[in-house]
Amino acid sequence: MKRIPEPFRIKMVEPIKMTTFADREKALAEAGYNPFLLASDDVYIDLLTDSGTGAMSDYQWAGMMMGDEAYAGSRNFYNLKDAVHHFFRYEYLVPTHQGRGAEQILFPALIRRAKEVRGADKHIFISNYHFDTTAAHVELNGGQAVNVVDERAYDTTTYYDWKGDFDLEKLEAAIKEHGAKNVTAIITTVTCNSSGGQPVSMANMRAVYEIGQKYDIPVVIDSARYCENAYFIKQREEGYADKSITDIIREMYSYGDMLTMSAKKDPLVNIGGMCAIREKKELFQAVQTLCVPMEGFVTYGGLAGRDMEALARGLHEGADENFLHYRIGQVKYLGDRLVEGGVPIQYPTGGHAVFVDAKKILPHIPGDQFPAQALCNALYLESGVRPVEIGSFLLGRDPATGQQKESPLELMRLTIPRRVYTNDHMDYIADALINVAKNAKDIKGFEFEYEPPVLRHFTARLKPIK
Ligand SMILES: *Cc1c(COP(=O)(O)O)cnc(C)c1O
Repeated sequence: MKRIPEPFRIKMVEPIKMTTFADREKALAEAGYNPFLLASDDVYIDLLTDSGTGAMSDYQWAGMMMGDEAYAGSRNFYNLKDAVHHFFRYEYLVPTHQGRGAEQILFPALIRRAKEVRGADKHIFISNYHFDTTAAHVELNGGQAVNVVDERAYDTTTYYDWKGDFDLEKLEAAIKEHGAKNVTAIITTVTCNSSGGQPVSMANMRAVYEIGQKYDIPVVIDSARYCENAYFIKQREEGYADKSITDIIREMYSYGDMLTMSAKKDPLVNIGGMCAIREKKELFQAVQTLCVPMEGFVTYGGLAGRDMEALARGLHEGADENFLHYRIGQVKYLGDRLVEGGVPIQYPTGGHAVFVDAKKILPHIPGDQFPAQALCNALYLESGVRPVEIGSFLLGRDPATGQQKESPLELMRLTIPRRVYTNDHMDYIADALINVAKNAKDIKGFEFEYEPPVLRHFTARLKPIK
């Protein structure tokens, strides 16, 4: 088991409050046994998400002082455009406030073109797996989101290098079923967040693009964790071991026509996003037209000049191979320690998180009593670590019948922010969780005290079952 030392040193610290078991018991009860409702001050190590939670470098912070806050044509916009062109080779850029900002201005433009140019009467988007806001923006615009990820993604225990890959047969079958003219876009999500931060191979990205070309369907790359994906390609795919991360990224993006990006992940900023387009100028103009009322003028898209500067610099730092080696290594180290301690996880570990199989740890708690949520609460009580539930609690009820839907997997996600926690923190998390798992038979399920009608997991209140 390898600990990879941090490729940075610390020159500013943020103290974290240490809490007692009694403090945490009180805080959790006040939060209705829903970690989303905990005050961050009551959390020792926060593993809720890797989105916007990373630490910027001294170079990025220095860039924050170089903000050109002009409404139009800010110097920082041009720096960002240069960085985007350097890695992706895409000509046209629209900055946005975050990833969903890019989705809300690109998807309606794509749909309108599909109607006008191709005579589409349905708007199908096919992805390895749509991220939840991505699916929401497809549906808000009258489209339908179809996922065709490789089946092996659902098998947590068997090793497979590319659990983010498209099932190519299912992709072509879906195109034929709906008719090529009705498929608005193919969305390649790298890494595949929903299957556990699992990578997509270069061979798969290439094949998906060829299918897109064959049926004249544009390919959008949903780009939150493209650097982590590039690192996996370098590690695992034949022919890439000696290529630079930059060259791998450039090849990946040659298999797409445009990208949407949440810059809150790999590009190491706390807020930001973008839409970039390789060469379709008319589409770019349509996206710009939507950007103005939705996000802001076309050279800032909801970001301050200083935010764009931090992002331009973050694009370079996020693609640094030494950083990625440490980053992926840290997540793997936590996963390996858990496996050694007998805790079942999605295997192999992906780029940004370790997914713990709560169904296997708590077989005595049925899905409708939320085993993964129970495990999150138990870990918080034990240690002050805040994980997040990805299972029945998140999935919700069938809108037609009102019945709780059955989730195929009950997972607890330990999401690792970038450059924030040390390897000693990883040991602390692993020790605590191994201990919780040892006493798993005493953990009880939960029921609702308050259940909101939509997106309930954010604000619901629970109570332990007696
Ligand atoms: C986070 C994320 C988004 C949405 O981005 P926001 O910045 O949260 O709006 C879209 N796609 C993927 C794969 C993501 O991980």
